[in-house]
Amino acid sequence: MKIFVLNAGSSSHKSCLFDLSQGNAIGQINRPLWQAALDWTHAEGSVELTASKSGGEAVTQVLPLTDKAEGLQALVQTLVQGPTKVLDDLSEIVAVGHRVVHGGRDYQQPVVIDAGVKETIRQLISLAPAHNLANLQGIEAMEHLLGEVPQVAVFDTAFHASMPEAAATYPGPYDWVEQGIRRYGFHGISHQYVAQRAAQMLGQNLEDLKMLTCHLGNGCSLAAVKGGISVDTTMGFTPLDGLMMGSRSGSVDPGILIYLMRQEGCGVDHLDHLLNKTSGLKGLSGLSNDLRVVVEAMEQGNTQAQLAVDVFIHRLRREMGSMIASLGGLDAVVFTAGIGENSPLVWQRACEGFDFLGLKLKDDLERAKDDQDIAAADSRVRVLVIHTQEEGAIAQACHALLQ
Ligand code: ADP
Repeated sequence: MKIFVLNAGSSSHKSCLFDLSQGNAIGQINRPLWQAALDWTHAEGSVELTASKSGGEAVTQVLPLTDKAEGLQALVQTLVQGPTKVLDDLSEIVAVGHRVVHGGRDYQQPVVIDAGVKETIRQLISLAPAHNLANLQGIEAMEHLLGEVPQVAVFDTAFHASMPEAAATYPGPYDWVEQGIRRYGFHGISHQYVAQRAAQMLGQNLEDLKMLTCHLGNGCSLAAVKGGISVDTTMGFTPLDGLMMGSRSGSVDPGILIYLMRQEGCGVDHLDHLLNKTSGLKGLSGLSNDLRVVVEAMEQGNTQAQLAVDVFIHRLRREMGSMIASLGGLDAVVFTAGIGENSPLVWQRACEGFDFLGLKLKDDLERAKDDQDIAAADSRVRVLVIHTQEEGAIAQACHALLQ
């Protein structure tokens, strides 16, 4: 059963082809047969397409394209042509799985896409403008390229749908409750996968574990996962809430927004740009949204970069503390995504705040290709670094739904 997975973003498209003919156990992910990505930030007027098949070299080409649908067509062609060919014909694909960022209150489970689902995703664009629009365009492009193949939407909000009302409700006027202005939470596909994988690594039942999962990439969020269920998370009504991120501020005093609007005549679009694009690591360091660049500058004595890293860690620890309170205990912390999988500095500094819980890391911390337990043997809390597998989890969800 060949399943094509598309994770469409505003500046990149990531895709994989999985063969789930053998079925698949939860928390255990097949390696993709093929994977490819489009990077639209590569250079003005062009896109960088990188494709590889399992065990093969990555092939990169720069194409003079700016249209997303044309880029996707070129990407799909690498499945059936050239050095990365893995299919004789595109008709071998039996389903397409899409990561859709916002499912609102309507979708709490994966769903087969029809006209009604597309319309709901379109209506939810106002809640996640960059993300849901790109997801919808991806769905329409794949329909055009592959015809009648079933397409499935897997929502990044769905895992958090079970949060208790007290965690999901904002303390504004009651009208907000009625209007659906509430904490939805995001990165759910990743939080759910790493929680399942962590239970497997620990050899314990997910139902018995209290886990804090930390998805730290360009976007950053935490989830409190109790017995396999998300009981709290840091992102909210939109992916802007919670932790400091690459270029997003995370939570700030809402009074700052009122102040900027009143005193400086700041408009909606300007506020949106300030908070989403020019804040976070990028805003404070004045350098980049890439933690590697900011840390390098910090090590060379750049005080603004130092401040950016210090605030990132402070916010992270503070929110980790609040998730631990929502859990009412802690068996394991899981780090995942670009920063979470790769930064010993972040593991160390984030965990330092919790030695009073008996959480101790190993002395020699190193990045690894495989998932690893970085806690000291006598630590009372396990600390796992798990490579997230959002695309693999989407393929599994598709497989389960279509079976
Ligand atoms: P996205 O949310 O766009 O999928 P990623 O999960 O790829 O993002 O994470 C991007 C972040 O990961 C960047 O801030 C980058 O600096 C960070 N990152 C990637 N590799 C490393 C590394 N070796 N050390 C520290 N940070 C890293």
